[in-house]
Amino acid sequence: MDYLTESNRRCEGDAVPAIDDARAITARNKHVIIIGGGDTGADCLGTAHRQGAAIVHQLELLPRPPDERAPDNPWPAWPNIFRVSGAHEEGGERLYSISTQRFSGNATGRVAALHAVEVRMTASNGRPSFEPVPGSEFELKADLALLAMGFLGPERNGMLDQLGVRLTDRGNVWRDENWMTSVPGVFTAGDMQRGQSLIVWAIAEGRSAARGVDTFLMGRSDLPAPLQ
Ligand SMILES: Cc1cc2nc3c(=O)[nH]c(=O)nc-3n(C[C@H](O)[C@H](O)[C@H](O)COP(=O)(O)OP(=O)(O)OC[C@H]3O[C@@H](n4cnc5c(N)ncnc54)[C@H](O)[C@@H]3O)c2cc1C
Repeated sequence: MDYLTESNRRCEGDAVPAIDDARAITARNKHVIIIGGGDTGADCLGTAHRQGAAIVHQLELLPRPPDERAPDNPWPAWPNIFRVSGAHEEGGERLYSISTQRFSGNATGRVAALHAVEVRMTASNGRPSFEPVPGSEFELKADLALLAMGFLGPERNGMLDQLGVRLTDRGNVWRDENWMTSVPGVFTAGDMQRGQSLIVWAIAEGRSAARGVDTFLMGRSDLPAPLQ
């Protein structure tokens, strides 16, 4: 997020370090490694290429998805298939079933290489686990490493802990049918209660939660609620 936010702000002409400023987080002429094969990783990939990266590798822990639906992924479920976004069409190499083991640095204390290993996915108690493949360790030159993985739910430290709101089994904020949390008068919508998702859900939920707030305050509401 440090990288993407700064890069977006620069494109908007905001006051962030210029691309050739030593303080800037930039991919220009660098060997870039993105850890995480999702949408955030794709955003990093596109941004790194636009900044003139020398080489970009994108590492993903999961195996490469199949080109067509697997038997256990029938319609109408979301198809878990290999996708090529606009950012991927612009270049970069995607590596699957890879786990990072460590980074190593140069004499100036900057990252110089990433050390990784191929992994095999197995299921243990219904949860995926990843076993290193013996002898598959390898090293990639790295001048810039971008972490684009691991959304684990809303941060608990601070506001959520202090409010004492109830959480769901998945670590998101629990809500009732009026979008109110377990703390009366405190409402929730978007990623906070759904988990990592999309803008369209956040907009619809925000409007629905507004109706919940209005009802809580006024006893009734004329506001539209796109979702129940
Ligand atoms: C890199 C990246 C790329 C994405 N790309 C897409 C995409 O292409 N399309 C898409 O649909 N979705 C995309 N998403 C997902 C999308 O951004 C989220 O689903 C959406 O922004 C969720 O909206 P939200 O209002 O729930 O939360 P947010 O947009 O995260 O807004 C929460 C706000 O609350 C503020 N906040 C946090 N704590 C406090 C506090 N204690 N007091 C006051 N304010 C606080 C935060 O600063 C933030 O501004 C992307 C997400 C990421 C990270």
